[in-house]
Amino acid sequence: MTEDQQTTNQCPKCELPREEGKEFCPECGYEFATGKEGAGPHEFAFPAVEDAYEPSGKTTVRAVLLMLLFGFLAGLVGGPLAYLVIAIAATIGAWIASSGICIAGLAALVIAIGAWLIAPAVLGGVISLLVGKAAEIGKSRNPTDRTVIALISGLVGFGSFLAVYYFALGPDSYDSFFDLLKLGWVLIAAVVVAAAGGAAEVKPFCEECEEWMKRHVLARRPIRQEKDLLDVLNAGDFEKLKTFPADPVAKSHCSIDVWHCGCENAQNYVNMHTFQHRYKYATDRNTRQVTQEDVVQARRVFSKAFPHAQVKSLLEMPSE
Ligand SMILES: [Zn+2]
Ligand SMILES: [Zn+2]
Repeated sequence: MTEDQQTTNQCPKCELPREEGKEFCPECGYEFATGKEGAGPHEFAFPAVEDAYEPSGKTTVRAVLLMLLFGFLAGLVGGPLAYLVIAIAATIGAWIASSGICIAGLAALVIAIGAWLIAPAVLGGVISLLVGKAAEIGKSRNPTDRTVIALISGLVGFGSFLAVYYFALGPDSYDSFFDLLKLGWVLIAAVVVAAAGGAAEVKPFCEECEEWMKRHVLARRPIRQEKDLLDVLNAGDFEKLKTFPADPVAKSHCSIDVWHCGCENAQNYVNMHTFQHRYKYATDRNTRQVTQEDVVQARRVFSKAFPHAQVKSLLEMPSE
């Protein structure tokens, strides 16, 4: 086989062997006909897997008290703040509207509605963040506790918002369907966003030394190695990973990480995530200039527990 044939049989971007009849490289999205990078759809080669780590469900009194304290404080302070942001936005909107510029009315409406949409969601986000922080400080390994406390704190946030809203505007403030709709949105956004935070990736905890594990992220590997990396991981033959060249600038890539602690008889966790990088291309109608926007999707393709002795070689390998 000549060198020329070799290059047409693989993706020029990521060097994955090219399948016949394919318009795009399934791993890096290269469009063979046009040479556009990252143009194809996200097409993962391997199925998503569950996290091998499962929280023990144990918690501490300290964690519960801290979560309640952080969550309630965030709700009590955040509710009035969210109202303040909405009131200020309405004032700015009214001021712009009175300026008489042609699109002023529309701009005023966008600012006012935007504040109503965003402020309650930010309130929920801050509650979720603080309850999560309290769970970490207090060493709670019970995601249900966290979700329930965040949800109640979201209700506290809504309650304090409602109190200030009523105090500022009086009984006329909820006599129309539109008012109820706005308040309903505040309730749903604050509570749902607050409670959703617990569903984020769970940090493993070592029940032996009663500490959160630390994460060691290996230097990224190019995506064309995905299948071979999975074979090595499945065999638990981590020494072999040293023979895989790292590529710190690869956009579409595989990332292996190890959750570990110092305990000799603890189980540690090895994961691999595949990141597929794509561009969203758009052509400006006036200048005909093509712009590209990064779109990244990640999938966990490997997750397994190993004894600490076995992952030691991984911890010695260079990190990202
Ligand atoms: Zn490719
Ligand atoms: Zn430990």
